[in-house]
Amino acid sequence: MSGQSHLLRLGRLTTAAFAISAAISACGSAGPSPASAGIAVVTSTTVFADMVSNVGGDLVSVSSLVPKNGDVHTFEPRPSDIQTVASAKLLVMNGLGLDDWLAKTITNASAIGTPLLKMGESVKGVAPLPGDTAGTQNPHLWLDVKNAELYVDEIDTALKSVDPAHTAAYDANAGTYKAKLETLDSWVRTQIATIPEANRKLVTFHDAFPYYAREYGITIVGVAVEAPGQDPSAGYTAQLVSAIKQAGVKAIFSEAQFPAKLVDQLGAETGCKVVSNLYDDALGDPPVTSYEEIIRWDTSQLVKALA
Ligand SMILES: [Zn+2]
Repeated sequence: MSGQSHLLRLGRLTTAAFAISAAISACGSAGPSPASAGIAVVTSTTVFADMVSNVGGDLVSVSSLVPKNGDVHTFEPRPSDIQTVASAKLLVMNGLGLDDWLAKTITNASAIGTPLLKMGESVKGVAPLPGDTAGTQNPHLWLDVKNAELYVDEIDTALKSVDPAHTAAYDANAGTYKAKLETLDSWVRTQIATIPEANRKLVTFHDAFPYYAREYGITIVGVAVEAPGQDPSAGYTAQLVSAIKQAGVKAIFSEAQFPAKLVDQLGAETGCKVVSNLYDDALGDPPVTSYEEIIRWDTSQLVKALA
């Protein structure tokens, strides 16, 4: 499979981008500058930035548009983000409706020629799960660690495409990182196995966990909101409360990047314990500052509350 095929090349680099790049090489010996730190990669979320850092190491300089603890679904790019996108040599997002606001930022930054990797749409062999509206696909593929390994392959291919001189280094880093993710995946399975089967039921704020649930044998009973940024109707919440009671759910989980109010209300109405917080679309503060830590943290929370 060709690496180029995963990158959307929508046009040519602008003259301005060439001018910036020429200026960087001209002052390369003048001392350290952000640009000399490596290939500038810009991602939509901190989770993807962490993955790119693992594959790119010192060869890349990664920044995320959505800050830690931020909500990628409802994010509104700031004027400074346009400059960040304009300076990128590679753009990395998920697609599938998670971070589609980036398309407008790319246009505003005159960066339509910059290679763009849409990981959720590029990966092959993942059976899609339905999104929040008819005809859409749930975008949260990476919370299944097996899918995250496929994301790593996509990142490896994209970095080699923009920086072929360092092909061996990217391949080696990707291999090391994927081995860690394999270990993580096995660990999740042993942890979930400690939860009695009847208790493996999940209620969260938004619909981030269906791929995780499918891979690791958990049933999603429901989510507090149909889509982030949208208040649920009274009818929707009443149905969810009844489903939670009927399923005998042991705990309801809030999420770090969203307000806890709705989940607290669900807890009060169902008598379920509310556990805070799971992480999914964004990194947080220690000890949840990497993708691996998100998976370890979330899995540990599930085990603590449900086992
Ligand atoms: Zn999400």
